Amino acid sequence: MSSATAQSSSRSGNLDCSSYARGLYINGKWLPGKGIPVTDPSSGNVIAEVADGSVDDARAAVDAAAAAAGGWRATSPRNRAQILLKCFDLMMQRQDELAYLISLENGKSLADARGEVAYAAEFFRWYAEEGVRISGEFMTSPGGGNRIIVDYEPIGIAVLITPWNFPAAMATRKIAPALAAGCTVVLKPASETPLTAYALAALYSEAGVPDGVVNVLTTTNPGTVTAAMLNDSRVRKLSFTGSTGVGRLLLAEASKSVLSCSMELGGNAPFIVFDDADLDAALDGAMVAKMRNGGEACTAANRFLVQDGIYDRFVAGLTARMKALKVGPGTEPDTECGPMITRKAIDKIEALVSDAVDRGAKVELGGKALDREGYFYPPTVLSNVSHDADMAKDEIFGPVAAVYRFGTADEAVAMANDTEYGLAAYIYTQDIRKGMAISSRIETGMIGLNRGLVSDPAGPFGGTKQSGLGREGSHHGVIEFMEAKYIATSL
Ligand code: NAP
Repeated sequence: MSSATAQSSSRSGNLDCSSYARGLYINGKWLPGKGIPVTDPSSGNVIAEVADGSVDDARAAVDAAAAAAGGWRATSPRNRAQILLKCFDLMMQRQDELAYLISLENGKSLADARGEVAYAAEFFRWYAEEGVRISGEFMTSPGGGNRIIVDYEPIGIAVLITPWNFPAAMATRKIAPALAAGCTVVLKPASETPLTAYALAALYSEAGVPDGVVNVLTTTNPGTVTAAMLNDSRVRKLSFTGSTGVGRLLLAEASKSVLSCSMELGGNAPFIVFDDADLDAALDGAMVAKMRNGGEACTAANRFLVQDGIYDRFVAGLTARMKALKVGPGTEPDTECGPMITRKAIDKIEALVSDAVDRGAKVELGGKALDREGYFYPPTVLSNVSHDADMAKDEIFGPVAAVYRFGTADEAVAMANDTEYGLAAYIYTQDIRKGMAISSRIETGMIGLNRGLVSDPAGPFGGTKQSGLGREGSHHGVIEFMEAKYIATSL
């Protein structure tokens, strides 16, 4: 990119994006560099350029994390907690500024971005509280002579890799528990949305996180650069959020060093609506489960499975609500559905919609990319979607609601489980006993029972099957960054 382009495109709205692109953040210092353009998806314009980290930079980041590890581990849990609380406070004080930045580089609406900042900040508050309450175990062995003592220790240096769809929350959901556990980290954020990660790195430093405890590195060469870190014997943990395909590659790489892995991968959430559901509540939940982040969420309702008796009313209600959404740049205050992240994302959605229509789906609303600058796909509703359609198996990751029909509860359960994914599912029924019974038959890590949102820092977030390994949030999340040390003794 020419410097003229960089100059003219670095200001967007009232925000000077170049001030967030200061370089790699290693050992508390900014190492300037260029090579990764950052694009505003509502216009396609480049708004900043960040550094392209190399294998040597990755080694320097691990060096920094290793040098800081002893001091951070020795910092008392209370002092660590106070720093985490400061991170929470600073994020909330800057909620609007951070939300604007997220909206600018990711495209999501300002309302969604503000919600993301609050959610992301809450991980710091939650783990400030959790970090001072990590207890071990003590018991007498069954034979009576020995004592069993279990201590939980920080696992060691953690490599964190995050996606673009929640640039703040996917990072803090890992950094906060890692720091609470006493670990130091290297974060590799997604290339599409690095500005938020760098803005937060500066904020952590201001909150008192010592140099080297959090290091942030962007790269155009994620396979080689992360492999260098995963094969460094000082690194003991990989925590990844992203697609199942990349997750598989990383698991293979991590197997060489037998690294502990937490994997938050893709989803294909069924949203099941029974005849006895409260229709308005189901429609409210459907809009949240489908349209948060314009559908670009791993927990997004990917398949609406609707029972015969309520089917027509649900499709009509959903179509009316989707039609009422205001589409536009995320940074405009009244926008409800922003652009998709890239042109490639639009191409994928178009291919999935066209395949579904070829197999008999009826377009109730939308169904074609918008002819305007940027990467816009309109809110879309497809009814009578065939179970053979590609979108029944793949993540749509866009504002397309695909509605399928079922007759019996057994059919709904079979359809819901007919996927390699097992992240989230939603069930709407006014019969709570039935809702609980169906919940126990659905093969996912999370269920929204008469709720369209499951994400909560206090709840264990994670998937079964090929949606991942381990849990983030709640007391489970911090244990992912700890190792049990068992001491056998005869007291
Ligand atoms: P992605 O393509 O898998 O990328 C995720 C991260 O992995 C990015 O930082 C990416 O870097 C990096 N990466 C790509 N190839 C790599 C490689 N060979 N080695 C090491 N790192 C590599 O996913 P995405 O498109 O950003 O995000 C969307 C996906 O994330 C969806 O599947 C969604 O369901 C999933 N997701 C899951 C959760 C959850 O909690 N389960 C939450 C959010 C999203 P670059 O950007 O530089 O390519």
